Amino acid sequence: MTTNAELERRRREAVAKGVSCSFPMFAARAENAELWDVEGRRYIDFVGGMGALAVGHSHPHVVAAIQDQLTRFSHTFFGTAPYEGYVAVAERLNAMAKVGSQAKTLLVTTGAEAVENCVKIARAFTGRRGIVVFGGSFHGRTLLTMGMTGKVNPYKGTFGPFPGEIYRVPFPYPYRDISSDHALAALDSLFETEIEPAAVAAFVIEPFQGEGGFLPAPTDYLIALRQLCDRHGILLVADEVQSGFGRTGHLFAIEHSAVEPDLIAVGKSLGAGLPIAAVVGKAEIMDCVGSGGLGGTYAGNPLACAAALSVMDVLQEEKLLDRAVEIGDRLDAGLRRIRRKGNRTSIGDIRRLGAMIGVEFVEDEDSRVPARDLTARIIQEAASRGLLLAAAGRHFNVIRVLVPLTISNDLIDEAIAILEESIDRAVS
Ligand code: PMP
Repeated sequence: MTTNAELERRRREAVAKGVSCSFPMFAARAENAELWDVEGRRYIDFVGGMGALAVGHSHPHVVAAIQDQLTRFSHTFFGTAPYEGYVAVAERLNAMAKVGSQAKTLLVTTGAEAVENCVKIARAFTGRRGIVVFGGSFHGRTLLTMGMTGKVNPYKGTFGPFPGEIYRVPFPYPYRDISSDHALAALDSLFETEIEPAAVAAFVIEPFQGEGGFLPAPTDYLIALRQLCDRHGILLVADEVQSGFGRTGHLFAIEHSAVEPDLIAVGKSLGAGLPIAAVVGKAEIMDCVGSGGLGGTYAGNPLACAAALSVMDVLQEEKLLDRAVEIGDRLDAGLRRIRRKGNRTSIGDIRRLGAMIGVEFVEDEDSRVPARDLTARIIQEAASRGLLLAAAGRHFNVIRVLVPLTISNDLIDEAIAILEESIDRAVS
């Protein structure tokens, strides 16, 4: 039998160090919200392929759709021999996305590419250069999206210089005293000191900031951004790569505010693990780029389109948007019970929209000093008990839940019990 230790030794020899791996275990198979390693150990998966698996691992409908497509063709290049799957994914995304008018779609391969294409399209449409982004944001690992990302370590470090005309303002973070008003004042100041609004092509915002610590953008703040956009001809771009596709109880997190963006970047759970991402936006904006200006060899690959279509079916058939709310309620109740147990002052804040839940750990409730090491210990304790978790936040002191929306209540309860034990052990 191949052991985890043996594979870990080979990984260290063969794989670049910059690719980090949280746990010394190697996956052998996975089903719904569970995963088994090469030694047969079973884990409850609260990371879900880093938020790519709203419908769980190897959903039978998704597997069947991919297998069926594979027997016909796996790739043609849409620009040479187009196929129905791409068109069907676009039609369905257009029907589902609330962008205030008729929509059109571009398919690409990764979330970073989706965000880059939002910038290309926004610049082409407005004829303007400036892109305004937010502290703590994550938009990808290409040079442009790294430049847009608001977290230096480990993403930006020594990789610059980055592309120009990217301007950053704070993202609202009430728990750390950045209110909507503070964040809006910073935007005013940006317009006074750095760039006039008439030169800004787009605001690019995560309506529920993922990597930055699971922070919902307050509704009043999103409304204010929309108003600024309307007043100055700026486009509002929602990066829903992590928060989209059902996790928050709406298809897109921004729907909670009823604010309609001009463009939406979609990724991760759209493909249930196959690499596919999209830009969905107002038709007149999407159509401003001339023929040949958008695309990519694997963009909208047929296997990934087959997966995306079946993901959309499963979301509807299994009522996963409603289920996201139930899962969120159940997890929230469990987490609040753990927090109330008194000696566990380590949980400073719990933030959620639907099943997208972040738990912020602090040294104590008064100082709110981020508890980075404690969070790392909790995650390792949980893994050793069979629960996979991931950290987020500028100080890596937030545990983020990106669990499949197909998980059973029994598994949720088991996971909460493991988390409770892991916190106990890590705190003591
Ligand atoms: N935007 C957001 C909000 C993300 O969370 C991510 C991935 N974590 C990306 C963009 C980049 O997506 P990808 O890794 O598929 O390029």
